[in-house]
Amino acid sequence: MSTTKAYAAPAANIPLEPFSLERRAPGAHDVQIEILFCGVCHSDLHQIRDEWGGSIFPMVPGHEIVGRVTAVGDHVKNFKVGDLAGVGCMVDSCRTCPSCQEGLEQYCEVTGMIGTYNAREIGTGQPTYGGYSQQIVVDEKYTLKVSDKLDLARVAPLLCAGITTYSPLRQWKVGPGHRVAVMGLGGLGHMAVKFAAALGAEVTVLSTSANKEADAKALGAHKFVVTKDAEQLKSVGNYFDFIINTVSAQLDLATYVNLLRRDGTMILLGVPSEAPHIHAFNLISGRRRIAGSLIGGIAETQEMLDFCAEHNIMSDIELIKIQDINEAYERMLKGDVKYRFVIDTASLN
Ligand code: NAP
Ligand code: ZN
Ligand code: ZN
Repeated sequence: MSTTKAYAAPAANIPLEPFSLERRAPGAHDVQIEILFCGVCHSDLHQIRDEWGGSIFPMVPGHEIVGRVTAVGDHVKNFKVGDLAGVGCMVDSCRTCPSCQEGLEQYCEVTGMIGTYNAREIGTGQPTYGGYSQQIVVDEKYTLKVSDKLDLARVAPLLCAGITTYSPLRQWKVGPGHRVAVMGLGGLGHMAVKFAAALGAEVTVLSTSANKEADAKALGAHKFVVTKDAEQLKSVGNYFDFIINTVSAQLDLATYVNLLRRDGTMILLGVPSEAPHIHAFNLISGRRRIAGSLIGGIAETQEMLDFCAEHNIMSDIELIKIQDINEAYERMLKGDVKYRFVIDTASLN
């Protein structure tokens, strides 16, 4: 066991504060990682506010982790002390069900994916604690290789925002000739723009924030639509093959579904606390579809990290100290982040 400094939410809607926790000694298949950077995902905020229900407190959030290996168990094959390593949204799953066998551990049918935080370890039932901490111990099967070619602080958000947007774009084979809309230009949205543009699609950002237009274009978007402007919205009616919906708040889905052309698909990534409302007519006229997608499997996460290293793709970030986390959440809620906060965990010392 080793004691690790961290920041935790003591209960729902109470600001995060300094916290100390014990990490297990690395077992035979475990990698011990000194955390260097951890991204701040809107899911962290949903969960510390218990907006999805069932939150476990005290909660140490953080599932966009990059660090350096400081110890490995006897049977670890793919990591050695000194290697760079990443940890995303999950640290375990049943490993034997069809989804796990197919490398889609996030859809595990037996235990469900075991979240990096706000979950309970298989076997011990102990709560898992995330990356707003100095150190983590994870089975190497759920640990990712990180290239030393990229800026590590800017790599951290790839472990959630990156894979969550990369996976559906690959699943639906998005590429040249497709018109893709990205709804919400935040952490996930800005990565979706980068990936969809890199894959050769025509990319439009649908945003509530008129002041993000220049950034959207710099990220690779071809068009920018301010969704509060009815005329602008009308100009893209029946237009898109795909809409990647990353919005974290409840909104009128029908308005946006109507922007899909025949056979177009809206892929839900954002998870507002309330259920979406849609009328059947919005779907049956145009044979439109609404789908969802949850992060990505371990193998695909590695593929995405390798793709990013090859194409020099990283997140655009604002580096913060852990002491600034509560203020960062307030800014994230207002859509005021360019485009991901990343915690420099050296500030925990
Ligand atoms: P974020 O950085 O806060 O970005 C969300 C964006 O949505 C904002 O920047 C804003 O963009 C837009 N938005 C916010 N409130 C809005 C409102 N009331 N109406 C319209 N647009 C609004 O959040 P994130 O970290 O990218 O996460 C986005 C969502 O994805 C969260 O719900 C998160 O839990 C979820 N998520 C899902 C998965 C998955 O596996 N499916 C993985 C990670 C995160 P504009 O300023 O451009 O309008
Ligand atoms: Zn996340
Ligand atoms: Zn499984």
